[in-house]
Amino acid sequence: MKILAVLYKGGKSAVAEPRLLGTIENRLGIASWLKSLGHEFIVTDDKEGPNSVFQRELPDTDILITTPFHPAYLTGDLIRNKAHKLKLALTSGVGSDHVDLNAANEKKIMVAEVTGSNVTSVAEHVIMCMLNLVRNFVPAHEQIEKDQWDVAAIARNAFDLEGKVIGTLGAGRIGQRVLKRLVPFDPKELVYYDYNPLPEAVANELGARHIPDLHQFLGECDVVTVNAPLHEGTRGLINTELLKHFKKGAFIVNTARGAICDRVSIAKALEEGQINGYAGDVWDVQPAPKDHIWRHMKNPLGGGNGMTPHYSGTTLDAQKRYADGTRDILERFFKGEDQIPANLIVADGRYATRSYGERK
Ligand code: NAP
Repeated sequence: MKILAVLYKGGKSAVAEPRLLGTIENRLGIASWLKSLGHEFIVTDDKEGPNSVFQRELPDTDILITTPFHPAYLTGDLIRNKAHKLKLALTSGVGSDHVDLNAANEKKIMVAEVTGSNVTSVAEHVIMCMLNLVRNFVPAHEQIEKDQWDVAAIARNAFDLEGKVIGTLGAGRIGQRVLKRLVPFDPKELVYYDYNPLPEAVANELGARHIPDLHQFLGECDVVTVNAPLHEGTRGLINTELLKHFKKGAFIVNTARGAICDRVSIAKALEEGQINGYAGDVWDVQPAPKDHIWRHMKNPLGGGNGMTPHYSGTTLDAQKRYADGTRDILERFFKGEDQIPANLIVADGRYATRSYGERK
């Protein structure tokens, strides 16, 4: 079979650190295994436009491996008109929104991902981002690098997490792990918005209250973290209209997907002080263009921006887990064995998960 992987470039870092498995250099650690089985394995980071290696190799590719960190966008047009032989689109990580899932269903292409592989890594990142914003860390550190020392300029917009209402929009694997990690901070309350209430035992353990109305949920939170997938029901969800329902001066941490938040609306709300901070690692286009407004947006006091490149789910620990999971999905596919149900996004022309299903 012909297997095409679109991964990110590791350069010198990948040569120096072989555990950077998600790079074009280290090839998810599966290159020699695939070769030993007689498969052709092509790896590239060149993914944009019709002349990219991705699009040139796609027509006779049987299995496409992509990652959310450097997403090769498998659009409906590519699926219908170029991916003639594609049988499996495998996301090495979590989140398959870069694949047109309706088109995959039409063509009966299986879409699978390594569910759960990096959820702890992301939950830790969310906690870091919350502390970073609420404690006004970035401008404080910038003072040090600029040889300055002005405690008041930082402390005037620095708070504690203790005593705040903190909420997650989406209380699945990541959302629940975030809530669990927040308990020792003694928040005023932990709340969540999700289609379904958590099982009673889980909600009790976390001490988290379900708020089924989105506007009410947003109006109660000092800090909102977004942990829902990107699908038709969440694309552009957090826009100027919805931002009016947030508490004035709230903080937003979004490590789910950039396109859940409207680019311009977020920058405007931050610059006008409607929100006090925005942090995360996901962007509506990746890699983010140099002039992306989220790179330099600030609140009126010159802080409130905690953006990084997309790396929360690609720590070295996470890479080992998603590389192992990728190999497991491939092994099962080659042998014609059932996949682990939680890893299936679409199969046999149907959604296999609620998360991206038709009801959204
Ligand atoms: P999960 O276990 O499927 O949890 C997602 C939860 O969100 C589910 O409970 C889902 O409900 C709920 N949900 C869906 N749409 C919603 C909406 N409109 N409003 C409220 N809740 C909604 O997924 P996960 O493993 O926690 O991952 C969540 C997302 O994080 C992924 O889809 C991915 O986009 C992102 N992620 C990012 C990174 C990173 O490196 N930054 C890494 C991993 C994942 P239902 O089950 O009923 O649909």
